[in-house]
Amino acid sequence: MTERQLFQQHLAPTSTEPMAFPVSRAKGALLYNDTGKTFIDLIGGISVCNVGHCHPRVVAAIRAQAAEYLHVMVYGEAVQSPQVQYAALLAKHLPDTLDCVYFTNSGAEAVEGAMKLAKRLTGRTEIIACHNSYHGSTQGALSLLGDEYWRSAYRPLLPGIRHIRYNNQEDLAHIDVHTACIVLETVQAEAGVIAPDPAWMQALRQRCSDTGALLVLDEIQAGFGRTGSLWAFEQYNIIPDILLLGKALGGGMPLGAFIASGVRMQVLADKPVLGHITTFGGHPVSCAAGKAALEALLDEQMVRAVPAKERLFRDLLQHKTIKALRSRGLMLALELDSYEQVKKAINYCLNTPGETTGVFTDWFLFAPNCIRLVPPLTISEAEIKQACTILLAALDQCVAA
Ligand code: PLP
Repeated sequence: MTERQLFQQHLAPTSTEPMAFPVSRAKGALLYNDTGKTFIDLIGGISVCNVGHCHPRVVAAIRAQAAEYLHVMVYGEAVQSPQVQYAALLAKHLPDTLDCVYFTNSGAEAVEGAMKLAKRLTGRTEIIACHNSYHGSTQGALSLLGDEYWRSAYRPLLPGIRHIRYNNQEDLAHIDVHTACIVLETVQAEAGVIAPDPAWMQALRQRCSDTGALLVLDEIQAGFGRTGSLWAFEQYNIIPDILLLGKALGGGMPLGAFIASGVRMQVLADKPVLGHITTFGGHPVSCAAGKAALEALLDEQMVRAVPAKERLFRDLLQHKTIKALRSRGLMLALELDSYEQVKKAINYCLNTPGETTGVFTDWFLFAPNCIRLVPPLTISEAEIKQACTILLAALDQCVAA
């Protein structure tokens, strides 16, 4: 049996049409398979591989930590140097009110923890989320998901959740003294890269402060330089009460976090004790990898190069099939007419008949008519140019069809 057949037989599916892309190696912004073909990665593991695949500092940190210890104790009991050092580094690069990190295994678990923290802190039960938002696949996170098509098969979900329109002034009135928190993405990713108006973000911050509702910003995709600043909220001149991180947080290893002030986090420790617990959250190897990745991101000034790379994509991607090109740093959505066109373009990029290089890209959950361009931040100018040449050839195919 081929590995592809074993994949189909033994791995539980998430769709009836998986990409089933065989990968044998990944380095920087490139993916390799065993046919000898190279792919420029415009997905970046869905905003995970910001410092590039297998950054040497990340690989070295993983090796070094694996030689010392792996799992020793559940989260929150043992003093594990990688956790402590990484939490301190994150706190150093965040506002003073975000100085206490709760490490989880994934983004969705960070969302779950934040919802619980907001309920404990406010004594309220209602939670607000936005239409077209994605926060994860666990039942709490799924309850926040902003599209009934994706939620309906799994009802009943969490009670007390209301959805409002993202970037809509009128809907801020729904945040009131009954609201424990509002959870939203600082830049909506799966909606096809929708960035809010700064005035709306500031009004949202004010409304939360006025009503005592907590502002929870999900930067699981938007964090770690993706949108052109280390944290996307910096561009809006606001500070969340709780920040959610994941994806790039682990430098390619599984890791999530919800971050708040040390004072606020105390409520999880008492009445009942063990208010939120996890066996593997903040795994030492993941924390060592994540810390090395953040150090590489900062030392190599990767974020500084993001605006120029965004501009290069925008300048090169001119084609009559493109209806819109939305971007925030190196999170770009190329809007076409239909999902069928997008699928055709994605397939062309993967196959590139007769060429030794292809492009690895896909679509967005709530914007299937958009091509996702979310490469590692380390992608070079030459790689961007080559990727855009292939993308434009793919768009020519869409016209010819
Ligand atoms: N929040 C956002 C904005 C996401 O994009 C995702 C995952 O794609 C999540 C939360 C959930 O993260 P995870 O898949 O690690 O549970």
